[in-house]
Amino acid sequence: MRSRSQKSEVRSQKSGNRKQKTAARRPKTIEDRAKGIKLLILDVDGVMTDGSIILDNEGNEFKRFNVRDGHGIKMLQRFGIKVAIITGRKSKVVDLRASELGIAEVHQKVFKKSVVYGQLLDKYNYRDEDVAFMGDDIVDVELLKRTGLSAVPADADEGTKKYADLVMKKNGGRGAVREFTDLILKESGLWERVAGEFLG
Ligand SMILES: [Mg+2]
Repeated sequence: MRSRSQKSEVRSQKSGNRKQKTAARRPKTIEDRAKGIKLLILDVDGVMTDGSIILDNEGNEFKRFNVRDGHGIKMLQRFGIKVAIITGRKSKVVDLRASELGIAEVHQKVFKKSVVYGQLLDKYNYRDEDVAFMGDDIVDVELLKRTGLSAVPADADEGTKKYADLVMKKNGGRGAVREFTDLILKESGLWERVAGEFLG
């Protein structure tokens, strides 16, 4: 996992000479960023899947999800962190998978993800710092930049990677989501409770 040199907290120093009360702030660590997370937003294709879209002759769509990613999502929810899906495509399997995982906020066929993102912030009264996001492509850049803690799978679009706080070791659909959910739980100090519950 590579940590982008934390989102720069450099403030544009106004060239004015009035007393600046905003002393340079300590850059936020990944731990700082993970601590306040209340909502994880996931893209689907290339994040919850390896990006393959399999179609049959009738136009039915197939996707392959990862069961350990699913467990990671369930663990987050168990410890009070909401999970939502925002995807540009629309397919029934996404509704089915979301329902299995108890994800209520499923937004498909979204042209501009930041619009739905803004609606979610309003609905739950969250700020950018409360949200973690994983995406893998150029359509995800805006949310990768805005959210409090952002990550991409190892095999994300190369041009997109630089906008994320973290690049996972695992690929999309192959454990990247689980790597991120484990990291959120560990960095936010919830892992002991997870361990207590699951590891005996
Ligand atoms: Mg994607």
